[in-house]
Amino acid sequence: LPHPGPHTPHPRTARVNTIKMSVQEALDWLRAPPPEHRNKASCMPAHALAPQPGWALVDACAAPGNKTTHLAALMANRGSIVAFEKDPKRLERLRAIVAATGGTIISPQLADFLAVDPEAPQYRHVQAVLLDPSCSGSGTAFSRMDYLLPSSADRLKGGRAGWLPDKRVEALAQFQAACILHALRFPALHRLVYSTCSVHARENEGVVAAVLEEAAQRGFRLEAPFPGWPRRGVEGLVAGAERLVRVDADEDGTDGFFVAVFAKKEGEAVEEE
Ligand code: SAM
Repeated sequence: LPHPGPHTPHPRTARVNTIKMSVQEALDWLRAPPPEHRNKASCMPAHALAPQPGWALVDACAAPGNKTTHLAALMANRGSIVAFEKDPKRLERLRAIVAATGGTIISPQLADFLAVDPEAPQYRHVQAVLLDPSCSGSGTAFSRMDYLLPSSADRLKGGRAGWLPDKRVEALAQFQAACILHALRFPALHRLVYSTCSVHARENEGVVAAVLEEAAQRGFRLEAPFPGWPRRGVEGLVAGAERLVRVDADEDGTDGFFVAVFAKKEGEAVEEE
């Protein structure tokens, strides 16, 4: 798509909701006046989860529903997606987007995911969870402000005191880790994708490191999605960093992003270092 302007330095990328239109129809429509856009990196989590039509899914922190509706499209709108959201206003937005996109397999529910009982009978078939919890959003903010800021590499190394993890990031990281451990309790679960739009290692590799041992005890291993993608987790912060996906706002032409896939059966065991 055309470059959007001086304050959004990356090219824009769109995902086609194939429930509603074909790629060709979308291309024709895009030639009309500028549409809303979806970010390229934010399409990675649903693809990494790789749900099949007919699966039973949970989207743990769903609003406004970009990834929920993407999952429904990947599943050809067959199966089920329970989409939890704890904020009533954001739930309304989720409901509106679900209705507009035709994802009839999606059931939006007002709930604190951490208060949901994964062992309740209605969740006994849940095979996969997409977990895109609240995060610092530092990847999105940075990519919008790159013309003011040092490079992502500097930020990752903590090159500026202002970008070092603070109390808020620490609290978010603990919440994120708690969500992963909670999600791993669904009895039939075999895939879990954890994603953030943060560049803070504490919310990314740090969270994976915090849950890795318990995940392994439950039979989950880190899978390496997108084998051709060159940018992986920051080495030295977690065992199996090369199986994690990072997207760099400076280098990859989209927002800063992070994706981890926990899978049963697939992938080799990661030994604690
Ligand atoms: N995946 C969404 C998308 O692609 O459109 C974006 C999710 S946003 C990063 C995180 C969402 O999780 C927010 O809407 C927030 O209100 C919600 N949330 C935060 N804590 C939650 C909890 N404990 N249970 C359910 N939802 C929660």
